[in-house]
Amino acid sequence: MSAFSRRGGELCCEAIAVSELAKKFGTPLYVYSKNGIVDRCRGFRAALGNTKICYAVKANSNPSILTLLHAAGFGMDVVSVGEMEHALKAGALPSDIVFSGVGKTDAEIERGISLGIFSFNVESRFEMEAIARIVARLKKPVRISFRVNPNVDVMTIPYIATGLYENKFGVPEGDLAELLEIVEGEPLVKLVGIGCHLGSQLLELKPYQLASSRLAKIASELKVAGHPIEFIDMGGGLGVSYVDEKPPSLKDYGAIVRAEADRLGVRLVIEPGRSVIADNGILVASVLGCKSTPKRNFCVVDAAMNDLIRPSLYEAVHRVEPVVESPVKAKFDVVGPICETGDFLGRDIPLPQLSRGDLIAVLTTGAYGMSMASNYNARPRPAEVWVDGSDSVLIRPRERPEQGF
Ligand SMILES: *Cc1c(COP(=O)(O)O)cnc(C)c1O
Repeated sequence: MSAFSRRGGELCCEAIAVSELAKKFGTPLYVYSKNGIVDRCRGFRAALGNTKICYAVKANSNPSILTLLHAAGFGMDVVSVGEMEHALKAGALPSDIVFSGVGKTDAEIERGISLGIFSFNVESRFEMEAIARIVARLKKPVRISFRVNPNVDVMTIPYIATGLYENKFGVPEGDLAELLEIVEGEPLVKLVGIGCHLGSQLLELKPYQLASSRLAKIASELKVAGHPIEFIDMGGGLGVSYVDEKPPSLKDYGAIVRAEADRLGVRLVIEPGRSVIADNGILVASVLGCKSTPKRNFCVVDAAMNDLIRPSLYEAVHRVEPVVESPVKAKFDVVGPICETGDFLGRDIPLPQLSRGDLIAVLTTGAYGMSMASNYNARPRPAEVWVDGSDSVLIRPRERPEQGF
């Protein structure tokens, strides 16, 4: 059964009509396909063999979804102590947790060391110094991996070109020597891996190939120097199809990212977020009304940039469709009620004439949707449900205005 499909013109999630879910749970509403998520996890496992798959919690940190992913055998990639606590609550063992991120506080580092997590992905000299200082104080060992900027020439691959040369992430390869001095001066610090994260929404495999061979070279040098390198971490970043993009198959992706680790005889770690969950969620909204200026048509809905910020923040394009199909009338900008011109969910969307109470769906919003939602304009964050065949389960209640935020 496919996660989302049309039956008789009605958008359905698994066996349930989306309009039924909207009636039962209200809008705005995030709807996820539980079996879609499970199938995707199986796809990853089939394509990645014994790779340690650490789901990037920031893509969607709903507790039920994290529990489901843990049950599917995924570890967790976290970028804050809050995400670390979510991962533990979902059942993850400390040995299933990798801690990424360009800035970690002492409290976050202490918590990770006390738990004995799988690895800290170290991104700077200042972080390495902080970790060395804290392990010496706690007298507890720590496992680390360096996140390097693999210095892959990506200028020909425009969608991530700025991702490598202009961002704040990772350690330039040339700076590794001074970090190694710190590692070598503190016996409690074990350098067990080397990793990278190339960026997000990658639609080609070449960057993975180039980066993994850089990492493999560094890893083998570190091994020769006596470091107990156990793994290469290729990060996340695999793209999905929002409109008509053609992301690589999991099989092709798996073959590319596994090759170098296999050759070197070390384990592979990956940190996929978007590619696990994006396709398995939609945002459903009710139309409040439509209006036109001499220049544009607007369809005002009850979901807004606080519920889904990707269009406003990145000019990300999502498919927006009426929940019940009918003939197209005109192109509309689908906008929310927030007092910002940048508050839109989609622009130039061909829609039928919709009236108050009709439903629209913003597709492919399982990742970086709810996890980036806010209370801007004192708006309650939406409810989340998942569908399991013909059952629907509320997996996060809608916030209520009287909760105060
Ligand atoms: C965001 C992030 C990921 C996940 O990226 P996706 O594009 O969602 O797969 C993985 N690793 C790190 C370090 C990240 O910052």
